[in-house]
Amino acid sequence: MNCQVKDELVSRLIALNNKLNLLSPDLVHGDEERAEVQQQRESLYAEIKHHRTKGHEGKPCPAAKQV
Ligand SMILES: [Zn+2]
Repeated sequence: MNCQVKDELVSRLIALNNKLNLLSPDLVHGDEERAEVQQQRESLYAEIKHHRTKGHEGKPCPAAKQV
């Protein structure tokens, strides 16, 4: 079963991962930016976890197993 919300959360996660990969360690403010993206990724993880377990009016997401 598909879930559009889950798909969107996952694609946001992939985008953040890509962004993280593109941040070069040589950048002057690279560390700060990486920390920021990592923080965004953590809160997105929490959002995904919440959606998986209670995202559908308090019920688990039917697409959770595909995440
Ligand atoms: Zn869902």
